[in-house]
Amino acid sequence: LLSIERLGARFGTFDVLSDIDLRIGRGETVALVGESGSGKSTLGRVIAGLKAPSAGRALFDGAALPPKLRQRPLELLRRIQIIYQSADTALNPRQTVRAIVGRPLTLYQGLRGAAREKRLIELLRMVELDESHAERLPGQLSGGQKQRVAIARALAAGPELIICDEITSALDKVVQADVLRMMIGLKERLGVSYLFITHDIEVVRAIADRVVVMQHGRIVEQGEKDRVFAPPHEPYTERLLASVP
Ligand code: ATP
Ligand code: MG
Repeated sequence: LLSIERLGARFGTFDVLSDIDLRIGRGETVALVGESGSGKSTLGRVIAGLKAPSAGRALFDGAALPPKLRQRPLELLRRIQIIYQSADTALNPRQTVRAIVGRPLTLYQGLRGAAREKRLIELLRMVELDESHAERLPGQLSGGQKQRVAIARALAAGPELIICDEITSALDKVVQADVLRMMIGLKERLGVSYLFITHDIEVVRAIADRVVVMQHGRIVEQGEKDRVFAPPHEPYTERLLASVP
């Protein structure tokens, strides 16, 4: 679905990403791990069109992926969605859940009126919320519920690739497990691909097909989950494994 070749990105003179080669198949979940500051979020942002690369190229479903968001047609914006760590900053505090999730339904799916409302309720159920939440503002929801709204908004577009940037890190352990289980169910049901950025080895174990390890803006290791972890080759991968009992 996504194929990236020799991609690079810079902040000023600082090479934040170098020589990134990455493929994500249809329906595949790739976990992206690596130390803080290694460039994971930046890679997610480049794929999402939020930051322009300085080198390399990306193909999405066989066609060149325009680097900048404003060069991407609506149809392409629909197909790649991104969800962030904190729904607090990602959701407009003055919009109701109905407005937040409804907007992509209209924008990308052309749904209005009763058809839009029907789909909205379906989506809320998919993320384990219900009609009663539609009226609420983000401030009237728990952290886990807000993250579910952010997930519903991404799903409302009808994406094929969802970039999940530490979407469970800000939640408590029990809610993390719930959201993770839900994300696994959704990918099986919808056949979407995930680029799943995380620090959590348990999350990798639970959701990933393949693991990519980044360090200092480069991919230092990638492969099938079982191969990367047993035995780990890179020091970071070793430390990550050592961090759980
Ligand atoms: P974390 O695990 O802490 O989220 P990360 O792997 O997601 O880290 P990035 O956020 O991609 O890392 O940052 C990679 C590098 O780019 C870091 O050194 C960071 O300081 C730098 N960086 C990020 N955003 C900017 C920016 N807007 N301007 C300059 N440098 C930046
Ligand atoms: Mg990050």
